[in-house]
Amino acid sequence: MNEVYQSACPLNCWDSCGFKVTVDKGKVIKVDGDPNHPITKGKICGRGRMLEARTNSSERLLYPLKKVNGVFERISWEKALDEISEHMKEIKEQFGPLAVLHSHDYANNGVLKNLDQRFFNCFGGVTELKGSLCWGAGIEAQKWDFGDAYSHGPEDVLNSKNIIVWGRNVSRTNMHFYQTLQKAKLQGARLFVIDPIFNPTAKIADQYISIKAGMDGFLAAGISKEMLRLGLEDRKFLNSFTEGFEGFSELLNGISLQEISEITEVPAEEITKLAYIFADKPTSIYMGLGMQRYKNGGNTIRLIDALAAISGNIGIKGGGANYANLQVGQSFQYNELSLSNRKTGQRQFTIMKQAEEILAAKSPPIQMIIVTCGNPLTQVPDSNIVKEAFLSVPNLVVIDHYMTDTAMMADYVLPAATSFEEEDLYYSSMYHHYVNYGPKLTDPPGEAKPDLWIWTELAKRMGFGSDFDYTRDQWLQMSLALLEANGITVEQIKQEHFTELPVKEIPWSDKKFKTPSGKYEFTSKLGQLKGDNGFLKLSFPEESKWANPELAKKYPYSLLTIHPQKSNHSQNYHLFAKEPAVKVEAAKNIADRLGLQEGDEVRVWNDRGEIKGTLSILKKAHPDTINIDEGIWSKFGGSVNLLTSSGESDNGLGSILYDCLVNIEKWETKTASY
Ligand code: SF4
Repeated sequence: MNEVYQSACPLNCWDSCGFKVTVDKGKVIKVDGDPNHPITKGKICGRGRMLEARTNSSERLLYPLKKVNGVFERISWEKALDEISEHMKEIKEQFGPLAVLHSHDYANNGVLKNLDQRFFNCFGGVTELKGSLCWGAGIEAQKWDFGDAYSHGPEDVLNSKNIIVWGRNVSRTNMHFYQTLQKAKLQGARLFVIDPIFNPTAKIADQYISIKAGMDGFLAAGISKEMLRLGLEDRKFLNSFTEGFEGFSELLNGISLQEISEITEVPAEEITKLAYIFADKPTSIYMGLGMQRYKNGGNTIRLIDALAAISGNIGIKGGGANYANLQVGQSFQYNELSLSNRKTGQRQFTIMKQAEEILAAKSPPIQMIIVTCGNPLTQVPDSNIVKEAFLSVPNLVVIDHYMTDTAMMADYVLPAATSFEEEDLYYSSMYHHYVNYGPKLTDPPGEAKPDLWIWTELAKRMGFGSDFDYTRDQWLQMSLALLEANGITVEQIKQEHFTELPVKEIPWSDKKFKTPSGKYEFTSKLGQLKGDNGFLKLSFPEESKWANPELAKKYPYSLLTIHPQKSNHSQNYHLFAKEPAVKVEAAKNIADRLGLQEGDEVRVWNDRGEIKGTLSILKKAHPDTINIDEGIWSKFGGSVNLLTSSGESDNGLGSILYDCLVNIEKWETKTASY
């Protein structure tokens, strides 16, 4: 007989939904929303529903595999783990532990997924990745400005008079916020969407502001400049709670409104109108995770923060420069879980430049890569170099559910359990502040094993098995140590299925910031401690006509690589009912200029690579904008990261995936002319 269990979505997504999962004879047969979940209230997206297929697919990896003479052969767990641990011991002895690289990302969340770090720390500390392909530049920016990256509680937007959704495709990536936006609008709030692409959120907006990709910081500066010209700034907030305003004011004096209008391609009168809107408080800003993926990305987020500060929309109900909510993740006790004190050495590569760093590493050279929760061959920029780097390393171990592009290159592939096959806690530091419980509902198929089992078995072989000698309940208890004082326990979460974490709904309401000065810092002391002068800067994307006119002549179009609708990054493409293909979305002016028609086969290229796909014309996108969704596997024509740059953001911790100029042409014509 069917049983229905409360569970949780493990995907790297804003919404961290509660699930109702139907299990029949030990098999997950349906994934639905849990109507009792206080935030997600029974509604989930197709990516969440597809976890049923992700669990049951006949393409699941069932057995450990070893590549012999270029061909994968089945191998026992005993033998695979013995061989991997022997390789690790030899590498440690000959080159030291830093010759092992842990390449990871956040494909599947779960508090206990972080125990991989414990394993590597007990091993002696391996080469780790720092920064992020996604939100890193913005997180760092908000740390410089506020001292940390905190957002308002999900319902606080209902207190806003004006809501600015800036570069966030809410209907695709944050669907429960979309519903709250509709409610806010019904209550009388005005909604403004700023984006290079006219997305479905723009459809419900009172006004859509179309902007040149990568120029969001200039727009924020223009609005701030107009606020100062019109005397609309919040002087009380500026005088009492901020530092370094004079430097910012000088920066704004160095550029005219007309120049800003030309750079952003937003009419000057619209910038002036936005200044009045910001002054009509409370006005909230909800940023997406795309506009920081440029060389100028850190400053872009800092300039938007500065606009929130100038207008006094910080620490008040219905306000906020909402980007991420690290309060949520900070509720958990990761130090105890990861045992970082066990490292004997430390080396970090940025996630963006891991390939170049692997190829350049000398002391010691990288001898082994272990990949967890990630698919770098598809997701890391400049895929050709990533491939070269990963091929150059003698031992590649990949832990995954499927034979991804990265797994295809591995020497050992270890089959992992999905979230329904192990017990864990799930949360997201992007939106709401509830932690959800996910019980073990079924057994993994074949010989697939939970990641924790793999680390425990490897630890035994490496001689530190006692560091992993804990039950799941004990691990979960350890992770909740900081929350015990609030009465939050493993038993309680298991019983109630979700629990509200004790985080501030209105961050910075006491106007006490976590910066070195305790104030909001227009000139960042943390930035100065890290070697920057800490000043806000007006800078261009690396690949733009302003920064590199020659490149822009050769490659006149801005390429975005947004989050796909039906796949969580690269995770679902192989499960689609219809085989996926590359869709090239281009602004109408490009099609008109080049005589391209809807459905044409096109080639998109730059100096790093090329990709071919089918054209879809975006009638309302900002001129000269192209989008190809990220994540598509090489066997389906991807990945779009063949085109993207492995450069790092201005503050060093983010990718510049959207800082990418390309050209486009009709492919059939080209073929015929050869
Ligand atoms: S992917 Fe996001 S929106 Fe979809 S079910 Fe999971 S948490 Fe919810």
